[in-house]
Amino acid sequence: MAKPSFREEVGNLLYAAKGSPLNACIQCGTCSGTCPAVEYMDHTPRRMIGMILADMKDEVLASNTFWFCASCFHCTVRCPSDIDIAETMYALKRYSIWKHVHQKGLVGPTFSETFVKTILRSGRSYEPVLATSYLFSSGVKELIQEASMATGLMLKGRLPVLPPKIKRLENFKRMVSKVIPLGGLS
Ligand code: SF4
Ligand code: SF4
Repeated sequence: MAKPSFREEVGNLLYAAKGSPLNACIQCGTCSGTCPAVEYMDHTPRRMIGMILADMKDEVLASNTFWFCASCFHCTVRCPSDIDIAETMYALKRYSIWKHVHQKGLVGPTFSETFVKTILRSGRSYEPVLATSYLFSSGVKELIQEASMATGLMLKGRLPVLPPKIKRLENFKRMVSKVIPLGGLS
């Protein structure tokens, strides 16, 4: 069987999303015009869709665009071709982590990977572990502020000292592995 192309792989990751396939894009630019994060992105959402359709895998994965997506869904609700662009950005994040390929120096990949690992370990999010994925990229002042706030919350019983675990964790892990490619994260 022939290896799927990049555009087919991204299309497969979108199988659960509602909306039209990416090749319905008419390159109108409505998504880029409505995106509040576009000025921070290497490529506009419109261009990203075009690059995926052109199978420009290396260029797509090297860009920061999907990591800077704020998931506001403005693009998705305004696209005249009914393409779920926000879900495409999520698909690219999953693909990027799965393949371990992303732009250096971004907080998003480490944060997302830490989040999935934390969830798989305990079935719940645990802020003290998650915070380590981005706090060290902030300044010393922010680090001290966050550490002091976390200590205050723990002393008041608002933040658990140890991560809480759900019951039937193995069932939960099996369920997660059915819906997202874990690619060594577990
Ligand atoms: S709004 Fe939709 S059709 Fe227009 S460029 Fe963006 S994805 Fe393509
Ligand atoms: S969902 Fe992402 S890509 Fe779409 S408009 Fe919002 S920030 Fe931009």
